[in-house]
Amino acid sequence: MVKIPVGVLGATGMVGQQYIALLAEHPWFEVRYVAASPRSAGKKYKDLMAGRWQLLQTFAPAVGDLIVEDANDLSRAIAAATAGRLAFVFSALEMEKDEIHALEDAYAGAGIPVISNASANRWTSDVPVLIAEVNPHHTDIIPIQQKARGWDRGFIVVKPNCSIQSYVTPVYALIKAGYEVKRLFVTTLEAVSGAGYPGVSSLDILDNVVPYIGGEEEKSELEPLKVLGSIAGGVIQNAAEPKITAHCNRVPVVNGHTACISLEFGAKKPAIEEVKQIWTNFSGLPQELDLPMAPKRPIILREEANRPQPRKDRDTDKAMAVTVGRIRPCNLFDIRFVGLSHNTIRGAAGGGILNAELLKAKGYLGS
Ligand code: NAP
Repeated sequence: MVKIPVGVLGATGMVGQQYIALLAEHPWFEVRYVAASPRSAGKKYKDLMAGRWQLLQTFAPAVGDLIVEDANDLSRAIAAATAGRLAFVFSALEMEKDEIHALEDAYAGAGIPVISNASANRWTSDVPVLIAEVNPHHTDIIPIQQKARGWDRGFIVVKPNCSIQSYVTPVYALIKAGYEVKRLFVTTLEAVSGAGYPGVSSLDILDNVVPYIGGEEEKSELEPLKVLGSIAGGVIQNAAEPKITAHCNRVPVVNGHTACISLEFGAKKPAIEEVKQIWTNFSGLPQELDLPMAPKRPIILREEANRPQPRKDRDTDKAMAVTVGRIRPCNLFDIRFVGLSHNTIRGAAGGGILNAELLKAKGYLGS
């Protein structure tokens, strides 16, 4: 199979590096275009990353030899697309929101689909916020988006914030099994890699917990409602429930966001054993389609009293599975549990690649 040439915008950052590493041996996609800020443009990727590469896995030699482009210079991307070196981009940029918004629009308008990790377009009403196992049907809005903007080949899809990955899939599995979830109380313990590189200063985070991450609680409370929403009237309408309250904390863990969750159900309430069964048996379209990045089982249940833990569980099944544990009755709501997912893989680059695989399987990225 001839691989599809892809680009990574923000290829030098925490999430960009994960894209480069995860795509090194991808069966469908091949990185042929890398871009970052004007500071990085014009240098070979391997020279730029010397001393800055954060991962254990390395990058493909051919990627190391690519010249890093300025992500703001659309003419370079158009030239690469025209030359057959760029079919679509993964966007992992960290810039002002309005700048990312304008840039992602410009790429899509130039016929280059954008699969984004940035928050800039998450509240654009015709842009789907995809978790491939939860709302794969939201890709149905792409033709509506293209028609409204006058785009032919280009479109934008985004991933939700990394903080919500560890609880939205388990909660969705319960909703899918017929249980209304009315209220959700979550406390997140978020890894430092979630703040990008170089991120939180060591003097702020070592021997410490920081009980504030700008904008994170709002994202954690609202984005699940768009993911759980439905397409109506040419836009994605938010779900009305669950009502969510979030406390988000930065903790001295390198990778892996943990979430402690309490749930209140509607009149029909599942027994704890049934919740375990629902999670263990849960599967989605990525599993049905056997997509390369899909975990065999999206939710892994651990029965040990002291799991999940970031160091022991974040890498489960390519770091794409959500691990849950400590499920027990809640004194205020109905049940409580702990969820964990790898923030820069399941919550960022791996989730973005899975979204691209889904889009490819559905015919949105060419046959
Ligand atoms: P990061 O480590 O700070 O990397 C930022 C990237 O953006 C770098 O490649 C940087 O290039 C580039 N950039 C910065 N200013 C730019 C400019 N003016 N023009 C063009 N490129 C510019 O950030 P990150 O953690 O990888 O996050 C990337 C995106 O993913 C963000 O939108 C973030 O919110 C989102 N996200 C992150 C996570 C996570 O766990 N880290 C999870 C989900 C979503 P230079 O190296 O040249 O400066």
